[in-house]
Amino acid sequence: MRTSRFDLPLSYDAGDLGLRVGDVVRVSLGKRDVVGYIVSAPRQQLSGERQLKPVLEHLDVPRAFDEEALHLAKFVADRYICTLGEALGAAVLAGAVPHVRETLHRSPEPPDPERFSGVPQRLIELIWRDLPPETPLPQLLRHPEARRAGDRATLLRAIQQLVRGGALRRTREFVKPRTSEYRVRTLSLGSAAATGKKARALAEFVAETGSVPRADALLAGFSQAVIRRAVTLGVLIEEELAVRRSESPPIQLPDFESTPEQRVAIDRIAASLDAHTYDELLVHGVTGSGKTFVYIDAIARVLRGGGRAIVLVPEISLTPQTAQRFESAFGNRVAVLHSALSERERFDAWQACVAGDIDVVVGARSAVFAPLENVKLLVVDESHESSYKQDTVPRYHAVAVARERMRATGGVLVLGSATPSVESYAAARAGRIALIEMHERATRLPLPAVRIVDLAEEFGADRHRVFSTPLLQGIRERLGRREKTVLFVNRRGSGAFVLCRSCGEVPRCPRCTVSLAAHGGEKLLRCHYCDFQMRVPEVCTNCGAPDLHEYGVGTERVVEEVRSLFPQAHVVRMDSDTTTHVGDHARILTEFAERGDVLVGTQMVAKGLDFPTVTLAAVVAADIGLNAPDFRGSERSFSVIAQLCGRSGRARAGEAIVQTFSPEHPAIVAAAAHDYEGFANAELEQRAAAGFPPSRRLVYLGVISRDQKLALSTARKYAGLLNSIEGTDVLGPAPYPIARLNREWRYRLAILTLKPALVRAAIRERVIPVAHADTHTRLAINVDP
Ligand code: ADP
Ligand code: ZN
Repeated sequence: MRTSRFDLPLSYDAGDLGLRVGDVVRVSLGKRDVVGYIVSAPRQQLSGERQLKPVLEHLDVPRAFDEEALHLAKFVADRYICTLGEALGAAVLAGAVPHVRETLHRSPEPPDPERFSGVPQRLIELIWRDLPPETPLPQLLRHPEARRAGDRATLLRAIQQLVRGGALRRTREFVKPRTSEYRVRTLSLGSAAATGKKARALAEFVAETGSVPRADALLAGFSQAVIRRAVTLGVLIEEELAVRRSESPPIQLPDFESTPEQRVAIDRIAASLDAHTYDELLVHGVTGSGKTFVYIDAIARVLRGGGRAIVLVPEISLTPQTAQRFESAFGNRVAVLHSALSERERFDAWQACVAGDIDVVVGARSAVFAPLENVKLLVVDESHESSYKQDTVPRYHAVAVARERMRATGGVLVLGSATPSVESYAAARAGRIALIEMHERATRLPLPAVRIVDLAEEFGADRHRVFSTPLLQGIRERLGRREKTVLFVNRRGSGAFVLCRSCGEVPRCPRCTVSLAAHGGEKLLRCHYCDFQMRVPEVCTNCGAPDLHEYGVGTERVVEEVRSLFPQAHVVRMDSDTTTHVGDHARILTEFAERGDVLVGTQMVAKGLDFPTVTLAAVVAADIGLNAPDFRGSERSFSVIAQLCGRSGRARAGEAIVQTFSPEHPAIVAAAAHDYEGFANAELEQRAAAGFPPSRRLVYLGVISRDQKLALSTARKYAGLLNSIEGTDVLGPAPYPIARLNREWRYRLAILTLKPALVRAAIRERVIPVAHADTHTRLAINVDP
């Protein structure tokens, strides 16, 4: 039995309840009744051991995890230095409905923000303005507005502060989830005709396949309200249909011939699968080389042999199109786990996995823990994506967990990417994992020619222009030919920042040490970290001159520029401001596919889009990020540029343009030449010279506090506790790239080591006990960041 606050399993008398690992029980702890999970099989009590309190009740809910999941949670807790409770809570139980339902009840009046200085303003507005008086806690934590106000840990701390200050009340109750067959709320066509544009579009969407899960309609961008109205009016019929294994349709492979490169990849993976032992393969295939087809073939092979498979994709790629590619091959043997599922649907899908009704799970990061038995194949698509690393506790990397899962059960791990992480490339180069290369697009079209435009030369002294002549010309030509353009900008908002031309002052966030981003449409300055907002001042707050001007460009500014230069163009914007709700992403892409000429957006436009008529992809400014204070800055830039170029020319010849002030930067030169190996080899050499991963492992140990001096001195103290570990250098403390966030100062040690196990042990034994005793600082551990 375990509780999360202290990392100690507790022992209780199980009586004759017949408990197994993963069972959910009620026990008393101190004065309270709490829910606990069984983490080891009951054993006989030895004589002389002290009398144990009894388990009060074996809750009548499905088992929360099995031995395999418990093993993975133990791996996460050990590797990423967190408690088993944290590892189980955030990962293994991700798909299970919470057995305790927590509800927040707000006080009638919103609290005075001054009293709650650590609470993001946006969160207060959300709770007291936009939400009903009572909100289930998980719903609040998942709310897009809340997520923009801070990560899970920040939100929980803020909520705790509000509860302590009496602004919120928090209640807990036990819930018994339904334990029945796997049911899916499904929409099909009714008898009434659709009226109105949205209802017609929805009806068409449903008509395409005859019936669709309600969650897929949400994911595709239709709102709850539109769906509800269509059902009320009889345009659609909503039913709960049970999914039964016996109705499993036969496997339907795509009906095109595999390319020779796909054949080689398919055969190589098949050989690994047939060997029935742990193996890892890296499929390095250029954008459009048809990797999905290779995965589908491998999954089919596994299913025919009676095994099961999990496919991880980045959250952003969980579109109706992705789901469809797997569903049309494997029908209802597939469960797609995505953010549009309700809690109940997610739970039902999870239970269907447990019951053996599902053979293939497609999902984002946490699907690596899906409770399928007999998983013989685990695919991680776009395996270089940073979203596979969770940035809150437990800070696990899904690829590492996937590897451990396959290692422990003798399955095959397939990583796929057009721009693999240099870590996995190094492993392949050293022969530790198999490498499969796919150099050609499945459509046989060449990769786009990439042109680098030197902005210093193009713009000269005029830093206010956004587009170079070649880019302008390129957009104009596309408009003339009714082809599409994708523009990547690495900042949202209108400008990167505001600067006083008289004194050089840049307005900064009062809580964080970052410059505020300009959002011209709203005449606002906003902090992209804590969401502090203020109006753009009339005059400089430092020297009083009325000389504040926007510099750099953000998505809003680029959209304005395209609209003013090409009034006839239909421009669509996609960034985190326009994609706050489930389905926004798909809706924007549908709009772009149907009517759009130009798509402007942040990283998300570089990822996995497949539109036949996009023949120009451009990076508006490739410089921010290149010089980021992060050892992966160069790798990320290479990857995003290469991926963006991959959006162009997928069905007819295309080109790409990279605008930059650093035309000679190796990442840019290599990306333009489609030279992954050249980039990776040079990057690995640099990393080795500096002793950074993968030549050594890295652990960040952060100390965070309101008190700057205390944060720094505590970090120094920890550095002292960690010195003289064999094969290890402790660097710092140095401020985080954002030294102050939400009024808290942040310092960190960078621990570079050849002996990660020794470092983990030292942190557990020497640092954590000291940190636990200190209530004025917080410890943040990030292993393999
Ligand atoms: P990747 O994931 O490698 O970027 P995809 O799997 O998305 O590539 O495939 C790119 C496009 O090529 C898709 O539209 C897909 O339908 C098509 N495609 C894949 N394999 C073949 C093939 N063997 N013949 C023809 N088209 C193919
Ligand atoms: Zn801020």
